Amino acid sequence: KLYQRKMNKAEILSFFTILRDDNPNPTTELIYSTPFELLVAVLLSAQATDKGVNKATVPMFKVANTPEAIAALGVDGIKSYIKTIGLFNTKAENLYKTCQILVEKFDSVIPENRADLESLPGVGRKTANVVVSNAFGVPALAVDTHVERVAKRLGMSRWKDSPLEVEKKLMRWTPKERWTDTHQQMIFFGRYHCKAQNPNCPECPVLDLCREGKKRMKSTHRS
Ligand code: SF4
Repeated sequence: KLYQRKMNKAEILSFFTILRDDNPNPTTELIYSTPFELLVAVLLSAQATDKGVNKATVPMFKVANTPEAIAALGVDGIKSYIKTIGLFNTKAENLYKTCQILVEKFDSVIPENRADLESLPGVGRKTANVVVSNAFGVPALAVDTHVERVAKRLGMSRWKDSPLEVEKKLMRWTPKERWTDTHQQMIFFGRYHCKAQNPNCPECPVLDLCREGKKRMKSTHRS
């Protein structure tokens, strides 16, 4: 049975303080130099590591880093750069179509609002949130797989909550100006510490706050 108690407000604030002290100025590990490059990198990042994405995008951006130039590569041309990334067939199709739409409908300018971004193929709420917050400074708290897992293990959100519900809860508990950093801090925490497989509970700085961690520690001692 999946047992989960809710974290109380003091515990949640304490968790955010620990994360912040550990990593006060978090930045994404994706390499980009324009909002468009960021959009492409995030669009390619589902089920892939940032390192894997960078390995594909750095050479591609040298040749093509505008919507026109990437559309001109064609789907096969895009695939030749991104074939080492998971789901590359679908991602190449989406990237190609997205670039075409950006050229035709948006004058090759990346829209700064979520609704327009989410109208692009392959761009969901998470990607749109990452782009508006990192490229345009619009407060947003993107919930990816790491953020979702950490929030649920700690009991900040229920196991059955959708990513959107997790996002809403996290936004309620953190001030607007901290949303972007909180997103990034939770990603790092999930990626390197509270990993999907084998989270490092014995050395976790928030073990005291984490019911899931305590449960895991107990079962390790028993076995
Ligand atoms: Fe994750 Fe374990 Fe830390 Fe809980 S105690 S946050 S499950 S690493």
